[in-house]
Amino acid sequence: MQPPDVSKTEQKRIEEKGFADFAEEPDENGVMWVKRKADGSCFFLNEENRCAIYSVRPQVCRLEPFNIVDYDYKKNIIEVELDFPFACCCSGTCDETEIAQIKEIARAAQIMVQKIQAVTANDLGLPINHRKVFAETRSRFLRRTVEMADLKV
Ligand code: SF4
Repeated sequence: MQPPDVSKTEQKRIEEKGFADFAEEPDENGVMWVKRKADGSCFFLNEENRCAIYSVRPQVCRLEPFNIVDYDYKKNIIEVELDFPFACCCSGTCDETEIAQIKEIARAAQIMVQKIQAVTANDLGLPINHRKVFAETRSRFLRRTVEMADLKV
């Protein structure tokens, strides 16, 4: 795994925990990456395979095991994708309890999608694996997300 990048704010927060000299010089794009150890792992992965800065770990580590795959700025929707089987590729990112919870959430999400897909197939009178059923199922979730975002405004 590529060690994470750190912003100035994150760097300061980590330094306040007593760590120093953990970041590379900013690259040509101004991005500051956490150094790797000789074995290629992140500077902060300790001997117990835990993150030494867990409470102040960078945002990108907090987002794992999800990836941002789309940002519809007009509808204010950030689409994330569960990155299995590569989830938690740094063993310091999540502990066993969190991985179990994430798997449970992923399973629940799968079941919800299957349920809505079955209802959609029934509404459209088409087989569950029809292209139009997939598209309409997605639209139903997107509409619901937009409606919920509108309720919060
Ligand atoms: S979670 Fe892993 S990659 Fe992120 S800072 Fe901690 S040890 Fe490094």
